[in-house]
Amino acid sequence: MGGHRQRLRPVGELMERKPVLLGVGALAVVMLLCGATVGLPMLMFGQADAEAAACEVPSAPGSSPEPGAGRWDGVATTNAATIVAVGRQRQVPPRGYVIALATAMQESTLRNLANANVPESLNLPHEGVGRDHDSVGLFQQRAGWGSVGERMTPSYAAAKFYEALVKVDGWQRMRLTDAAQAVQRSGLPEAYQKWEGDAEQLAALVLGLPNIDDIGGGAPTAPCGTDDLGPVPVGPGGWVQPIRAAIGSDFGQRGRNFHAGVDMSKPDVRGDTIRAAATGVVEQVKCDWYTTCDRDGHTRARGCGWYVDIRHPGNTVTRYCHMIQRPEVAIGQQVTAGTVIGFVGNSGGSSGAHLHFEVHLNVPEGQFHANRDNAVDPVPFMRAQGAPLGLTT
Ligand SMILES: [Zn+2]
Repeated sequence: MGGHRQRLRPVGELMERKPVLLGVGALAVVMLLCGATVGLPMLMFGQADAEAAACEVPSAPGSSPEPGAGRWDGVATTNAATIVAVGRQRQVPPRGYVIALATAMQESTLRNLANANVPESLNLPHEGVGRDHDSVGLFQQRAGWGSVGERMTPSYAAAKFYEALVKVDGWQRMRLTDAAQAVQRSGLPEAYQKWEGDAEQLAALVLGLPNIDDIGGGAPTAPCGTDDLGPVPVGPGGWVQPIRAAIGSDFGQRGRNFHAGVDMSKPDVRGDTIRAAATGVVEQVKCDWYTTCDRDGHTRARGCGWYVDIRHPGNTVTRYCHMIQRPEVAIGQQVTAGTVIGFVGNSGGSSGAHLHFEVHLNVPEGQFHANRDNAVDPVPFMRAQGAPLGLTT
């Protein structure tokens, strides 16, 4: 495989969802206020207790084109996280993730492949080049599965795979290779079976679980819970909404203060789950001493209250503020899109229960480097990831 290209993935037209406005009455909840940027106090007080966070992308080192090697690189792991996120979003039972991962391992070694026979595919972002008929993408889907652009959009390709898989009668009880073959109709029907162990390991890895047997167990809101995501958009790169709620306050200058994120709320939002927006590693879990923590804050308080930072591949950091209690994740923990990281509250400089959500780009490695200078407006960012914020269908 050659022709590696690094490019931003385009947002497929298909992934655009029309935002649906909630009634004005419901939106006119509280005028939410967050404390000013948390960057400075964290810089001042953060270094002392900085821990050695695992700041790399959540991937095992080294590629694993061989079954049983059990190691997959960052590109493969990110694609795996997307496949799993789409499965959760579509409420496919976990066995489906394993079948989908094993299939993509066999078809593409979890690379989004262009095809030398399909010139259009070479102009799209890709992670290798194959030459099998007109097959492209993670699942090597042929022309009947969609346009070239669609089949080379990982979330689309995964969705089409699941769509076909769940129509196979008895797929959950079949041998893995039989279920995969029923979807793929490959010339090598036994070829998927050898990836089962790798697929189980990788599914557990991207779900942040120690073992595949934990999948499907536990309370839906348990740490590392594997509850499904529900009918939320999953972007081409596997991004999801951290919470399904309306944006009550925008990013930007707010009087003399700078609001480094957006505030999201809806009626009765207190206690709602907050989810990791994408795969990554938890870099910070904290409630600063100078703010309020396990109780309601107020507008004279400063800071985030209980918050979590997650570092995603490409040195993007997302921040989630004002949680109701100590978050459900720990520093260094791998999370995937949709992992429950905590619950909506009103801790810190906050005048009502809401999620204050920040996105930071090009953040230098290490904790406490996400600050107002690298904060970007989460609204266009999340739209570009195919997981627009707000109450979308
Ligand atoms: Zn805010």
